[in-house]
Amino acid sequence: MSWTDLARNGRILVVDDAMENIQVLHQALRDEHEVLFALSGEKALEVALAQQPDLILLDAIMPGMDGYAVCAALDASPRLRDIPIIFVTALNQPEDETRALEAGAVDFISKPFNVAVVRARVRSQLTIKRQADAMRELSLTDGLTGVANRRHFNDRMESEWRRCARANLPLSLIMIDIDHFKLYNDRYGHQAGDLCLQQVSAAMKRCAARPQDLLARYGGEEFILLLPQEGRDGAEAVAQRIQDEVRKLAIPHEPSSTAATVSISMGLATALPPLDLHEANALIRTADAHLYQAKQSGRNRYHNN
Ligand code: GH3
Ligand code: MG
Ligand code: MG
Repeated sequence: MSWTDLARNGRILVVDDAMENIQVLHQALRDEHEVLFALSGEKALEVALAQQPDLILLDAIMPGMDGYAVCAALDASPRLRDIPIIFVTALNQPEDETRALEAGAVDFISKPFNVAVVRARVRSQLTIKRQADAMRELSLTDGLTGVANRRHFNDRMESEWRRCARANLPLSLIMIDIDHFKLYNDRYGHQAGDLCLQQVSAAMKRCAARPQDLLARYGGEEFILLLPQEGRDGAEAVAQRIQDEVRKLAIPHEPSSTAATVSISMGLATALPPLDLHEANALIRTADAHLYQAKQSGRNRYHNN
């Protein structure tokens, strides 16, 4: 994607209590973007939640919930917090501008506005937003396998633990380690080892495809699978699928004393999360201990309580 592409085809939410202002902005932006609108602050929050716009053009003064109140409400919502806001307003004193920026706006446009300026500012904010999204994505992804990295896992483990605790739902973990991987590298070379990690992680990812599932690379050839809302039986079914899928890859592993092809060992752990987050680490340790037992008792298997 080029920089110009980054600045186009955004989904822009225009919020203004005057229909004529919405029409002018719609006219200015519709060739390059998808334009949504809301005639009040309350409606804006509803549309933002349902449609997840890339950018919001927000009128400061509206009856009912004004622009500043909308900003505060957006900031309080984890799902809306990262959407950039440009204030569009007839107020044009420096303190108005300062107040908008302090409320969390990224830019400020005074009315009456110049259409070319609006277009240019929208483009530049979209570019910044998309670069930031790409950076965040990169910072959460393992470079070799494309699955989540350990930091991403830690963040999600915490939020899913809290969510399951509140909803009184179980949460399961599967810790996964490739068998005799040092011997694999020694025999086939490090590049083949890298390729093997990519194939195995892709196969595992196919086995846990619900939106809330998260596969992460935990260390070198060690992965962890987070299965929120999944009890013991469900987690065992997933482990069984993973074992089958990895076997089906049929990657030759001659020096392995366990199997003729690449195999994995897994440790499972399930809990009904209490509110205490320390227990989340205890669950990871349990999955790790069960992985160790799977290794000790012959590899190419999973161990659970
Ligand atoms: P076990 O069955 O007990 O798990 O034995 P193992 O050989 O798999 O375990 P060990 O921890 O001794 O070795 C892990 C190996 O994984 C050693 C290391 O070189 C390799 N490894 C770790 N990260 C990477 C990677 O990114 N690429 C490649 N090619 N190899 C890696
Ligand atoms: Mg290993
Ligand atoms: Mg290991």
